[in-house]
Amino acid sequence: MTSAPSPTTQPERTRLLVATRSTHKLRELRELLGLRAELVDLDDVGVAQEAIEDGETFESNAAIKARFYASISGMPTLADDSGLEVDALGGGPGVRTKRYAGENATDEQNNVKLLGALHGLPPERRGARYRCVLALALPEARGPRGGMSVRLARGTLEGRIAAAPKGNGGFGYDPIFEPVVEKPGARTLGEWTAEAKNRISHRGRAARRMHTILTELGF
Ligand code: IMP
Repeated sequence: MTSAPSPTTQPERTRLLVATRSTHKLRELRELLGLRAELVDLDDVGVAQEAIEDGETFESNAAIKARFYASISGMPTLADDSGLEVDALGGGPGVRTKRYAGENATDEQNNVKLLGALHGLPPERRGARYRCVLALALPEARGPRGGMSVRLARGTLEGRIAAAPKGNGGFGYDPIFEPVVEKPGARTLGEWTAEAKNRISHRGRAARRMHTILTELGF
């Protein structure tokens, strides 16, 4: 007679907390990272508190979030911060990308405001890039200055802001973002497939770098 394997004989999957409440972001990171570890979000582990993202760079905000949720949960925690830097705006809106047109601005309101700010500028003065920083906080490891150890992975996607919105794919600024591989006036990211975008995107690149770090650490 065969008996069912006892639960104690099953090796436990390591759990990695993703500092988000967005099922979209959790699923995207699961796909991009393809880890053995189980990725769970803040609601899965019952964390109700919100980190205050008051850093002036993507790096500091990602690290603030990762450390905050790692110290509350005691779990290794992955956080991301991303946004758009526009050359003609001196690198803005940067860490204020999500709130560019106001505290609760919609994607469309943000796009309209940005197109207005760049109105009349030729393609060569519409340069922009998406940036993504992923931060991994390890609550039991110490960094060089004695604080909680945080590892960072960055990714960038160069491009330009289109003259007008095109396409319904992606989210955020995708309908007005032309990746650098497209000629001015050609396709925006809103017209790319998700798979093609992941191959070149800031988030895809940061995730591949973070994948290397995580697998080295055994996740
Ligand atoms: P957060 O990283 O969730 O704080 O928000 C970053 C903001 O940057 C988003 O709300 C979007 O407006 C924008 N953003 C970041 N990555 C992308 C992208 O891949 N496509 C379009 N917009 C993006």
